[in-house]
Amino acid sequence: MRPTRSSRPALHFQAVLFFAAALIATAPTAQAQSKKPSKPFDSAKAQTALADLTREVRADMAFLADDDLHGRGSATRDEHIAALFAASQFQSLGLEPGGPAGSYLQKSTLPDPLPERLKQRLARFEDTPHKETWNAIAILPGSDPKLKGEVILLTAHLDHLGVAKPDPAKPDADLIYNGADDDASGTTAVLALAHVLATGPRPKRTVVFALFGSEEIGGFGARAFLAAPPTPLTNIVANLEFEMIGRPDPAVPAGTLWLTGYERSTLGPELAKQGANLVQDPHPKEQFFQRSDNIALARQGVIAHTVSSFGLHTDYHHPSDDLSTIDFTHMTNAIASMVTPIRWLTDSPWKPVWNPGGKPELPATRPAPPTAPQTPARNAG
Ligand SMILES: [Zn+2]
Repeated sequence: MRPTRSSRPALHFQAVLFFAAALIATAPTAQAQSKKPSKPFDSAKAQTALADLTREVRADMAFLADDDLHGRGSATRDEHIAALFAASQFQSLGLEPGGPAGSYLQKSTLPDPLPERLKQRLARFEDTPHKETWNAIAILPGSDPKLKGEVILLTAHLDHLGVAKPDPAKPDADLIYNGADDDASGTTAVLALAHVLATGPRPKRTVVFALFGSEEIGGFGARAFLAAPPTPLTNIVANLEFEMIGRPDPAVPAGTLWLTGYERSTLGPELAKQGANLVQDPHPKEQFFQRSDNIALARQGVIAHTVSSFGLHTDYHHPSDDLSTIDFTHMTNAIASMVTPIRWLTDSPWKPVWNPGGKPELPATRPAPPTAPQTPARNAG
């Protein structure tokens, strides 16, 4: 989540049951593949599935938010390592590469020199080249001859703020911006959803998983994705970005997630109808719809929103956003609660649309630079 310019009972049984039912329904067995009604609810299997998810969430978070990943600074070697970690998981799940030339990585070059305002912001952090940024992209091809041309895009951002320069006045200060909530939590969610979707029966629609680099310094990874998408943008039915789901938001009921720009399209309400614990963003003043990578896609017309439970905690963009503050029960249930609704979306012919006035405008185009002087050119002809 980019900066703006301007203890509840965590275990959520409904989410757990939805997830368990979804996992059982997606188990790659002859039973699940057949048209017969699914087996009665198997609570032992459900508990195993949830235990597996919990382990996976803890393992991915432990890697991404470790001090040795140095806060995954945008366009640094550490962001690259996080991208490789995701790419390795995508490959081991049998997903198809979504980057160029059979790679899971999409590398792009940052502007050189960087914009002056960004250089000033980065001056507080360790000096790193900030020359290239990495996205990790994978594709799960759809199974339905008609629907496989339609794409559900699941995204998060790999990078965070990196390491601050030491302050001689505070020699013991923690300098590593681990970004456990922002956005190791979203990255972990996308990896876990990739695992669940890749190991069940094939979804009817194609699913693209994309983890962006350099979100925090202005969405450069998302821009690279838009410049060279693995599928034409017009094929993308919906994009769900996952941002900061590692802790519950006290502004909404326990076990609830919110969707930025909920009122802008028909996507949020329909997912809620399909069992998602999704509500309107309770912090409209924060303008979160504009503050993550979904906005770049939305401006291109893609129905793109961010799923979050960021409760405006004060660890946001501080070194204290680390693993010890993560509520793993909330986070695991948050991911589990989205499995059935996403699975419905991947198998349905239903398409969301913008509500009147909901589609964001492209940023105002800058006035054209002054062209040649109006006087006739002396050397004309
Ligand atoms: Zn952020």
